[in-house]
Amino acid sequence: MTLRDPSDARLLLSLGAALLLAACGRSPVPAAAPAPATTVYSGGDILTMAGREPAYAEALAVRDGKILAVGTRADVDKAVGAGATQVDLAGKTLVPGFIDTHGHMVYFGKNLMDADLVGSADLAELLARLKQHAETVPEGAWIVGFGYKAAGLAENRTPTAAELDQVSATRPVMIVDSSGHLGSANSALLKLAGVTADTPDPEGGNFTRAPGSREPLGPMEETALNAVRSQRPPFTGELADRAMKAGAAEWAKHGQTTAQDCGLGLGNDDIDLVLNAIDKKLLPIDLYVCAKDSITDQVLDAAYGVSRAYAPDETGVAQKLLDKRPDLNKSYINRVRMGGVKYWLDGSLDTAWFTQPYTNNPPGKTGIYSGFQQIPDEVLQAAFDRFWTSDVQLNMHMNGDAAVEQALRAIEAAVVKYGMRDHRPVFIHATYMRPDQIERMKKVGAVPTFLSAGIVTAGDSVLRLWGPERANNAAAANTLEKQGLPWTLSHDAPVTPSPSVLALVDAAVNRRTGSGNVIGPDERVTPYAALGAVTRSAAYQIKEDKTKGTLEAGKLADMVVLSANPLKVDPATIKDIQVLQTLKEGLAVYEAKP
Ligand SMILES: [Zn+2]
Repeated sequence: MTLRDPSDARLLLSLGAALLLAACGRSPVPAAAPAPATTVYSGGDILTMAGREPAYAEALAVRDGKILAVGTRADVDKAVGAGATQVDLAGKTLVPGFIDTHGHMVYFGKNLMDADLVGSADLAELLARLKQHAETVPEGAWIVGFGYKAAGLAENRTPTAAELDQVSATRPVMIVDSSGHLGSANSALLKLAGVTADTPDPEGGNFTRAPGSREPLGPMEETALNAVRSQRPPFTGELADRAMKAGAAEWAKHGQTTAQDCGLGLGNDDIDLVLNAIDKKLLPIDLYVCAKDSITDQVLDAAYGVSRAYAPDETGVAQKLLDKRPDLNKSYINRVRMGGVKYWLDGSLDTAWFTQPYTNNPPGKTGIYSGFQQIPDEVLQAAFDRFWTSDVQLNMHMNGDAAVEQALRAIEAAVVKYGMRDHRPVFIHATYMRPDQIERMKKVGAVPTFLSAGIVTAGDSVLRLWGPERANNAAAANTLEKQGLPWTLSHDAPVTPSPSVLALVDAAVNRRTGSGNVIGPDERVTPYAALGAVTRSAAYQIKEDKTKGTLEAGKLADMVVLSANPLKVDPATIKDIQVLQTLKEGLAVYEAKP
């Protein structure tokens, strides 16, 4: 596929030369055209990320959204000519824009439209936060808050409908706790959802009733909550615009110039949100979309606390997108490209599918337990029949080695059937791969993207569930690095609460768990290797390495200014480095407040 090929830059240059020649041949000579706007960066560490060893440049010039020249001060000055704007980095560090290799920007943006109730200390605070949020919610939309804990409130219980009526007596108000399994509705919402004394509790859930009656009080659990939640209207109009812009802004704040939503279609309104963003040119950064192509209820439950709000039976998202925008899989249209489809092969850390049993079963599992398979081999095989020879990459979620095995079987069969292709299938998480599987992965050109931040948040429980061998070899970045194989790092936000890229780099370098243990010290990588995983190799994974991932002439001027050089600070403090500015094709899309 051709994406903003660097040859465009050569074309522009040769066009310029042709115009110049034409001008010289004319008489009288017209007034000189204004020099094209050019910006030259110097005065800090310009880390190009080109090559396997760190390389620095003295200066870098940007023109028309692309890197015009990079190298010594003299070389860059010569390439630029007079009249360029000079930017002094003042000792700061310039690196390529970070590329998200597995995240959920659309989903995250939608979450940002709900009130943040995390850490609410009591009912008064929860209601105050909701009231403040309500003022920003357009008429017709529900007022929703997320993330409180009933046990964390001074009242030690779920708020009632009567209490939520203080936020609004007429508009629907819903709150959902941090687990995603419990919540409450106000009177207007109970009425709208048709929940009355006559409503039976659905199987697998319940509505809390007033003592001595069947009158619903507001609190609801599990399937009862889902029954109400599923009636939430889709994000449209102003709210749709705001959700997409808020998601992109959050990604840019963390230095990302290419975002991802891998699993698009989990929400009923996802397709419309993306099409709306294309139509209105809402996005300041690129968005690589991978459309949900299969999913099961079990995976949704395992992967997302709020899963039931989404539509598990929805299929064919990729086709629906292509029906509306037939070239969306060929190149970016107003900053959106459908580069992949997504398959879930197993669940999360306590439902990962292994060839060997868990060392210690997760709560509620008895007997010999090895996690479980999510989709039949034939389904995955059929996906490869459709996509192996296309531009659309297979992105497959996998945590355990049995899931890795299923992916490898499918790819190896596709190679036999259709021959080897430059497909770059993506192994999302690839948390535990056996050494023999890494060998096979190499042969078929798959790229794993490790959720290194998970080592910090879940490393201790992985050690308990999976045992030391599997935990120490989880996210085997250094094994791949030593062999010169591509691997990347991803945050999977909102699964990781923040889409911070530097936190991923830090985690891959330090591999320190929440309790302070270092898990699998042999798999720690250098800061340079970890930075490569979010720039150069990340561009390779999404097949955009011709235009992104390094600071080289002809590539897009997607760049980040960092407060310090990750290669020169104490490795334990990499996550504390600040993103000062994010530039997408030369334009600032994020600037830190001084
Ligand atoms: Zn994910």
